[in-house]
Amino acid sequence: MDLILFGMQGAGKGTVGKKIAGHFGLEIFETGAALRELASQDSELGRKIKKIIEAGNLVPNEVVMEIVENFIKTLPVGSNILFDGIPRKVEQANSLNKLLNKLERPYRAVLIDISKETALRRLTTRKICSSCKEVYPASYTKSVCEKCNSSLTTRADDNPESIKVRLEAFDRETLPAIELYSDKLIKIDGEGTIEEVAELAEKTLKEII
Ligand code: AMP
Repeated sequence: MDLILFGMQGAGKGTVGKKIAGHFGLEIFETGAALRELASQDSELGRKIKKIIEAGNLVPNEVVMEIVENFIKTLPVGSNILFDGIPRKVEQANSLNKLLNKLERPYRAVLIDISKETALRRLTTRKICSSCKEVYPASYTKSVCEKCNSSLTTRADDNPESIKVRLEAFDRETLPAIELYSDKLIKIDGEGTIEEVAELAEKTLKEII
């Protein structure tokens, strides 16, 4: 069974997603990372995608869906996937569902649920490694990255104005997409620490994966 992972910015989606994938042996499709990889290629498409990402716009749906389909084709038979960062809007949800149905891949959706206040608090206080880009919550008290020892900084787009815009985009575009999955949706309370949320997710998902 594949999982489609949803969560407002600050829900811990990336970190908890990696833990869930590790626990259940799922392959992660990380949409933003896959698109950045494409954008780094010296090709006409690569250059086009790079411009779109740098402008902060969404990459056209056909391009994203082609990458997803290619990713699925490279996996060994029997692999299950955790989709992170897709779908971002209703149109994309319809395309993804159509593709998964065509490939006869059953799926469920998972929402890591947090309040807007929690999202705001976490986004304005989290830190990121200036070198390897590992993200640390406010509760992390060391001043250097645990992985590569570089200094920590805040993400350039984690300022109140940009955060507001991103949270509004989530409400406007992603919430209606999540509603399409209401009969397949599992909600996980995301208010706890990363470890608590991951444990809760693993316990809840154990029954269905
Ligand atoms: P992220 O790493 O999720 O912050 O995504 C980085 C950038 O990749 C976004 O600003 C978009 O330009 C693009 N992107 C990520 N996910 C999607 C998606 N599902 N559909 C279209 N574009 C996306």
